[in-house]
Amino acid sequence: MIIAIDGPSGAGKSTVAKEVAVKLGFSCLDTGAMYRSVAWQAVQLGVALDDDAELGRVAREYDIEFGHDEGEPLPKRVFIGGTEVTSAIRTAEIDKAVSPVSAAPSVREALVDQQRRIGNAGDYVVEGRDIGTTVFPNAEVKVFLTASFEERARRRVAQNAERGVGSTDFEEVLADLRRRDEADSSRATSPLKPAEDAVMLDSTGLTQQQVVERICDLAQQAR
Ligand code: C5P
Repeated sequence: MIIAIDGPSGAGKSTVAKEVAVKLGFSCLDTGAMYRSVAWQAVQLGVALDDDAELGRVAREYDIEFGHDEGEPLPKRVFIGGTEVTSAIRTAEIDKAVSPVSAAPSVREALVDQQRRIGNAGDYVVEGRDIGTTVFPNAEVKVFLTASFEERARRRVAQNAERGVGSTDFEEVLADLRRRDEADSSRATSPLKPAEDAVMLDSTGLTQQQVVERICDLAQQAR
């Protein structure tokens, strides 16, 4: 079974996706981490962020892997081309670079291929922007998770503080969310939009636990 969780930055997708996966015994795929990893690698190589062909080459040639820590139910570490980038992909620099990189059609083509291969190997919660529309249009459960701008910025600040990486300035985080929403929604290839058959879930004012339970209920109904 595939549970697709899409939505804008900071809606709480990652945390909720992981919780749902642990509860149901599914694996979990963070597709944003894949776009971030390619952005990080492109920056290291000095590739121009509007060079579709070169960006596509980076996405195809540098393997992305997720790593488990002992005793952890889900992989937390991310590697590209053998280098660990778990923290390096969460900086403000990569927050900016990831928008043009994820708008490159050849990058999307390469990563969507990989995401399908991974997800088809078992029961997965897959989170991103285009999972229910493009990557897994036949997903058994599709959720489009949203929250108010302020709520999303507050959560992202708390998450950055916990990780010790990325901005913890509320206004800066809010501005970045607005910029990325605009970029993700207006790009030509796979823009951020709910699938027609997605369940819309506004998490403003809901606890994480309530959101998780709602998605687990949907999975139960889809079985
Ligand atoms: O989810 P996260 O905020 O880490 O994603 C980083 C960026 O990757 C997003 O702003 C978006 O540009 C891109 N992305 C995407 N398609 C996905 C997942 C992420 O374009 N499926």
